[in-house]
Amino acid sequence: MSAKTQANRREKARAAKAAEIAHRGGRCLDCGKTPQETGRPLEFDHRPGTVKVGEVARMVSEGRSVPKIEAEMAKCDLRCQPDHADVGKQRIIDGAPPVLRV
Ligand SMILES: [Zn+2]
Repeated sequence: MSAKTQANRREKARAAKAAEIAHRGGRCLDCGKTPQETGRPLEFDHRPGTVKVGEVARMVSEGRSVPKIEAEMAKCDLRCQPDHADVGKQRIIDGAPPVLRV
């Protein structure tokens, strides 16, 4: 794949992620803060019991296909970084079903 094609794929992936974040209101599911308020990008948090193909942010930076990224985002909730970390710890305490990896 040429460098130009790769850059184009990455740009499409980035646009798909931005559209999904906007569709969800651009805020953390838990605290309602925006990236402007926290100074950090929102993170896609895989729900317990889902099958994780990859981190959404990494898939975007790798320029994976838009349908693959959309399928991955559909398994996730949108959280700020601190709430993503907190909910992860709470799931361990609660014995929530793990995120499965392929
Ligand atoms: Zn939050």
